Amino acid sequence: MSETSDLPESLLLEHHTWPEVELSITRGTNGVVVPVGAIEQHGPHLPLCVDAELGTALGIRVARNLGDALVAPTIRVGCSEHHMGFAGTVSIRPETLRAICHDYVVSLVRHGFTRIYFVPSHGGNFKPLAEMLPELQEAAAALDPKARVSAYTDLLGLVGVWKWVVEEEVGLGANVGGHADIAEASEMLFLHPNLVRVGRAEPGLKGDLDQSMVDRVFERGLRSVTANGILGDPRGMDADLGGILLDATARVIAKVFIEDDGDEEI
Ligand SMILES: [Zn+2]
Repeated sequence: MSETSDLPESLLLEHHTWPEVELSITRGTNGVVVPVGAIEQHGPHLPLCVDAELGTALGIRVARNLGDALVAPTIRVGCSEHHMGFAGTVSIRPETLRAICHDYVVSLVRHGFTRIYFVPSHGGNFKPLAEMLPELQEAAAALDPKARVSAYTDLLGLVGVWKWVVEEEVGLGANVGGHADIAEASEMLFLHPNLVRVGRAEPGLKGDLDQSMVDRVFERGLRSVTANGILGDPRGMDADLGGILLDATARVIAKVFIEDDGDEEI
């Protein structure tokens, strides 16, 4: 806790006590960001927890950009059926994810939070989140007519931001492929350098991630297109680049939420 405030500096809801959460809500903190990650293979150079760890880091940055928002416990396991061809991946079904997200929304709205923002940090969670959004919104509104649920669901848009930033910063935009690539490897190097096997970094399937590749990966599994589990190329990874990428993607996501909220209030 800082000396000048009676609330903790951490934006993580779970780091607060109940009186602190109550005080935050009373003072006008009405938003909660919910990161939705995954525990799945990320090539021979990155651990299974990449999307879960990146989710928390991204969630904190999105909450900072939004202001007046906390970060719920990251949903660490996501919809990773398309990664089950690789050892260690743990996957939940879309209906399981829907039940978890529903219960998060109900819990948070019951305490008085009125803006719930879902932030997927794993490709397989975007579509289930988009599909469940009306149901989540309905559940929230049934408890509080002011409550609003949003989700960032533009997977290709996010990979586009990675590509643009990596090209701008280090001229290696071509190494962004969308999975365990230079972007994700750099972000992990920034957050958890001890978990990155830098010497095992090798190219995977090169080329831009487009909708036909996304469809193929979800239908036939990632292993049908890449033997090592990588889309793109992690080589050239850099910790500073990772920090820049996290900040840039958080800004883009928060902007979409802020515009959404603005539309609602007009
Ligand atoms: Zn990932």
